[in-house]
Amino acid sequence: MKVLAILYKGGKAAKEEPRLLGTVENELGIRQFLESQGHEYIVSDSKDGPDSVFQKHIVDAEILITTPFHPGYLTAELFEKAKKLKVCVTAGVGSDHIDLNAAVKHGAQVLEVTGSNVVSVAEHVVLSILLLVKNFIPAHEMIERGDWQVSDVARNAFDLEGKVVGTIGAGRIGYRVLQRLVPFDCKELLYYDYAPLPEAAAKALNARRVEDLKDFVSQCDVITVNCPLHEGTKGLINADLLKHFKKGAWLVNTARGAICDKDAVAEALKSGQLRGYAGDVWNVQPAPRDHVWRTAKNPLGGGNGMVPHYSGTTLDAQERYANGTKSIIENYFAGKPQEPANIIIGVGKYETKAYGQR
Ligand code: NAD
Repeated sequence: MKVLAILYKGGKAAKEEPRLLGTVENELGIRQFLESQGHEYIVSDSKDGPDSVFQKHIVDAEILITTPFHPGYLTAELFEKAKKLKVCVTAGVGSDHIDLNAAVKHGAQVLEVTGSNVVSVAEHVVLSILLLVKNFIPAHEMIERGDWQVSDVARNAFDLEGKVVGTIGAGRIGYRVLQRLVPFDCKELLYYDYAPLPEAAAKALNARRVEDLKDFVSQCDVITVNCPLHEGTKGLINADLLKHFKKGAWLVNTARGAICDKDAVAEALKSGQLRGYAGDVWNVQPAPRDHVWRTAKNPLGGGNGMVPHYSGTTLDAQERYANGTKSIIENYFAGKPQEPANIIIGVGKYETKAYGQR
């Protein structure tokens, strides 16, 4: 059978560092495993347009492996052509680049390596919150420039202690972010999620659920976005909702770029409605060179903590999601049931409750 993997190009780094498993060069470490069983394994980063390797081979691939870091967008239109496709495996977490309703229609399963990088992302969120609140990046840039003017950076630096922090989405990542914030003595930890946390889990963190989104954002000094991208979250953080944020709030989004309206967020940062915006996810990936999020700043010239999409692809995470991808494929070959938590779309139906209420 044909197994097609769309991964990101790792270049020199991937040749020098074999633990960069999620790259085209290192192929998730599964070539020998697949070929020894007589399967064909096509690996490429070429994913856009009708002449791409992705679109050429999707027509007769039985297993598709993709990664959120360099998403091969499997649209409803492409599903029509993918006559043999049975399994889509996301090497990582987050399968919004697959048209999930089309997967249901075509009876293709969508599986993720659930949990594989949730700690990696939660740590990155805490880092991003701190670097925004402490105004860290402008302070470091000042040092590299050769300057030393403490007041210029201290005028926009605060403590996390005593602030209200809220997460949109309190699943594996959102919950771990709140857990990691407990020792910072925040004023309150809030969450907004249609699925309430189990009572004991909420109590362990003293986390309070706010059911109305506008009410929720109006109470937070820091908001972190940790829900999947689906019909109900696309453009959720838009110009209208941003008006309800506290003036000068900090926003961290490591979930998916398209949950935030690109221009509305940039405008809010420029006007000072947001004091800072940080994250690693972009509405288009790779982000174009002139993407406004690369350079947007608050009125004092700071508040931008954007990086490329890498929080969930630390070397530790890559080992976990490469192993998890292999296990999913082994189960498929052996006709064994998949780990229930890894099933986003089972044959003909949504198995997860995290991609919207339906
Ligand atoms: P999860 O399924 O454990 O939790 C998601 C939570 O979001 C669930 O509790 C769900 O009820 C909630 N949710 C869904 N829609 C919502 C809405 N409209 N409003 C509020 N809450 C909503 O998933 P997870 O492991 O925590 O991952 C969350 C997302 O983070 C992934 O889907 C992915 O998009 C993103 N992610 C990013 C990276 C990265 O490298 N930046 C890595 C891993 C995951």
